[in-house]
Amino acid sequence: MHVWWGPELIYLYNDAHIPVLGKRHPDALGRPAAQVWPEIWPQLTPQIDAVMLRGESTWNERAYIALERQGFREDAWFTWSYSPIRDEAGQIGGLMCIALEDTAVLLAEQERARIEEQRQRKAQELQAKLAAIVESSDDGIIGKTLDGVIATWNGGAERIFGYTSAEVVGRQILMLIPPERRGEEADIQARLGRGERIEHFETVRVTKDGRRIAVSLTVSPMKNSAGAVIGASKIVRDITARKKADESLAQQAEELARSNLELERFAYVASHDLQEPMRTIQCFAQLLQRNLGQSLDADARENLGFIIGGAQRMQALINDLLTYSRVGSQGAAFAPADCNEICAKVLQNLQASIQSNQAHVKIEPLPVVIADATQLGQLFQNLLVNAIKFHGTRPPRVRISVQGTPREWIFSVADNGIGIAPEYFNRIFVIFQRLHTIEEYGGTGIGLAICKKIVERHGGRIWVESVVGEGSTFHFSILKRERHHDGEALIDSAG
Ligand code: ADP
Repeated sequence: MHVWWGPELIYLYNDAHIPVLGKRHPDALGRPAAQVWPEIWPQLTPQIDAVMLRGESTWNERAYIALERQGFREDAWFTWSYSPIRDEAGQIGGLMCIALEDTAVLLAEQERARIEEQRQRKAQELQAKLAAIVESSDDGIIGKTLDGVIATWNGGAERIFGYTSAEVVGRQILMLIPPERRGEEADIQARLGRGERIEHFETVRVTKDGRRIAVSLTVSPMKNSAGAVIGASKIVRDITARKKADESLAQQAEELARSNLELERFAYVASHDLQEPMRTIQCFAQLLQRNLGQSLDADARENLGFIIGGAQRMQALINDLLTYSRVGSQGAAFAPADCNEICAKVLQNLQASIQSNQAHVKIEPLPVVIADATQLGQLFQNLLVNAIKFHGTRPPRVRISVQGTPREWIFSVADNGIGIAPEYFNRIFVIFQRLHTIEEYGGTGIGLAICKKIVERHGGRIWVESVVGEGSTFHFSILKRERHHDGEALIDSAG
């Protein structure tokens, strides 16, 4: 509490004996208030006048004052209460002032205001960012009311449909829907009304210039704070280009399948029809050899031998070509096939070769797969024949193993033979491609091409890993779930 008295408001009393308004009590005592606080006095004058001239009291008035305290300039916040003091005659002679400083409250309020401002600024920035994203999105983003009136329209929508926002906002969304698809909107509205979200709904819409475009729609209900659906936001993606690409891809795939089939038929017919004349040549050349063999001179005998050898090789090539062309066209339906049994049969077939080459073949436990068992046998046999045939100086050691992934089985046939240089890893799977002469290693160069075709028919891949001089490992995969080639349902061999 402070007391100021007399016309000049001499400072008389401070019960707290503490610095007030930045002045020490002894410095202020007995001096006119206006001189002691020249820097803030003008601010206080209205209240002082109200007290001194009109005898009014002011209670709990809050005032902000910048003052010097102990040589520092500070912002202070005071709550003032003034009341007049009267002399015996009832005249106002001075005033009593109670000043409570609550700068801490001020600072807290300032801090709160600062945080609030920061929050608002961040919210505005976020809103601006979102607006920019919405505006620059390639997708059309459209807001509509529950009764189908367009409420918002971004740049993406303008690019897709050709209408500006001014041309569509306030109009019915039906304007974008071709007449024959109007029913879709009622369906969408009904689903939205139930609070459902519609994702990637592919349909057709109409642009400003009347073009029909393929679009994918994702429609989400917009709810008010009480959870009631009040409208919807629609994301529209123009998928015309993708649709066209899909169609042309499907067309290409169809053409490829047709031309493959034609090629297969051609190979089949050609090889089938070639067999007959080939047999005739072989037959008569052998007859000649038998009948005239002794009377021919050495040169003629050798030439006849070449004819017979060539014809035999031609026969082998034709047979292989026939086998190759039959993989796709004459395969059996897929059914559960036990790979252990298949491999045991293959081993039996190759018994003579295994013995003569002193080969050691180890077969790990194998699964039952959904496949064409005959073709699978052919596949294992071709790989085993090669693994034994292409051996180096060591006796062949071959191991057949398998690994399962959730999707497929991966079989491996590993040998310790001559190996293959990496540059030939792809070439060897091409029909009639060989890396050796007939004299070095016999064969027609079709075995791996047949393997590849069989594996692909079963939805798998085939590849090789090899180090020259150390050995090769051929891997092939077979899908665990396979579709019957005549289009029956999927069968899960893993289950
Ligand atoms: P072919 O065995 O009748 O020559 P393939 O199509 O079965 O025909 O094989 C193509 C070529 O791939 C072979 O000529 C050989 O050079 C190479 N090859 C295949 N399997 C092996 C193997 N296990 N080790 C080394 N080379 C191999």
